[in-house]
Amino acid sequence: MTSHSAPLQSWLPIPADSHFPLQNLPYGVFRPASGKEPRVGVAIGDFVLDLSVLEERGLLAAAAQSGKRVFNRPALNEFMVLGPAAWRQVRARVTELLRHDTATLQGDAPLREAALLRRDAVELLLPVQIGDYTDFYSSRDHATNVGTMLRGPQNALNPNWLHLPVAYQGRSSSVVVSGTDVVRPRGQTMPEGAASPSFGPSRALDYELELGFFIGTGNNLGESIACERAGEHVFGVVLVNDWSARDLQKWEYVPLGPFLAKNFATSISPWVVPLDALAPFRIPGPTQDPQPLPYLRSSGDWTFDIELEVTLTTAKSTEPFTICCSNARNLYWNICQQIAHHTVGGCNLRPGDLLATGTISGKTPESRGCLLERTWGGTQPLALPDGTLRRFLEDGDRLTITAWCQGDGYRVGLGEVTGKILPAAM
Ligand code: CA
Repeated sequence: MTSHSAPLQSWLPIPADSHFPLQNLPYGVFRPASGKEPRVGVAIGDFVLDLSVLEERGLLAAAAQSGKRVFNRPALNEFMVLGPAAWRQVRARVTELLRHDTATLQGDAPLREAALLRRDAVELLLPVQIGDYTDFYSSRDHATNVGTMLRGPQNALNPNWLHLPVAYQGRSSSVVVSGTDVVRPRGQTMPEGAASPSFGPSRALDYELELGFFIGTGNNLGESIACERAGEHVFGVVLVNDWSARDLQKWEYVPLGPFLAKNFATSISPWVVPLDALAPFRIPGPTQDPQPLPYLRSSGDWTFDIELEVTLTTAKSTEPFTICCSNARNLYWNICQQIAHHTVGGCNLRPGDLLATGTISGKTPESRGCLLERTWGGTQPLALPDGTLRRFLEDGDRLTITAWCQGDGYRVGLGEVTGKILPAAM
């Protein structure tokens, strides 16, 4: 979709397998050193470009009319509210400053030193102040597998599933940035055959492989966002791990859905990949039969060809073992349909709201995006190279999700979201 007369090359060395070439330029929030104020940066190769420095020097005006600074902030929200025209203008300017044929930054050693930091030397923070977090359930294979385990193959999909993008309201206060440890949750479960519930640490802790879309500009209460305009409201995409306690979930979810099974932690990747960086990887979506109601009819290609991979390391082995390979093309409902549905009753979305896709599973066992499906409820445990079996996550396990789009000679990556399981509190 995007064509360039010359190949996009930076004056910075970018490894061929880097997730962060000039074609990507994802936004994040970081602390350059202990005690320094958080600010907004862009990932480029092995570096972070400090946008607050460029803004201060007058090289980057995101809010040109007001003159307001938006990058010396602890979150992306102030930049998000400026809207798509400002996002595109900043993206074009950063691309220009990093191009091989632009001298502004390349030829100014003191400025380079002030604005470019090694990515592994900075502390990455939660990039967005998240107001509300909604988690959808938009992979047909995931919903079918889970429904089959709960209700049998005849009733796997609930009657509403093919007519609307099902979701629940998640908990934003416990959304954490990649690298944050996750304490095994405690709660009520109803063991098979027991007469009354038990209390204790979850014995069926799981992950869920998901993408999350950040809302850039919202809508007013009582209004709605039409499906064909919904894409303009999306700022960018991150990886999401919706940690899930299956034993808590099984007991508590009737009739209002998950609560403590999900609200103890949700992890996201630190770099928000702009929607424009994913434009070359947009593909036609699945055929939707039955045809959705008119307000959910989507035009344009809003399915993404993003490779997804999940690895596990354990207390016994730090060698990553791949437990899932999936692709974002496995989603049935797309982000525009999700936004249209979310707002059609008059609900307002706000800048910084997070809309996650739900677990992204495909047809093969290897593409099932959570352990519940991968081990079929724990009945088919995974044999790990360290000699142990996994039905669900153990204390000391580290779960990492990574994702990338393969371009011609470059990758647009989402980086990774990782988290280690700590024992439950006493
Ligand atoms: Ca989920």
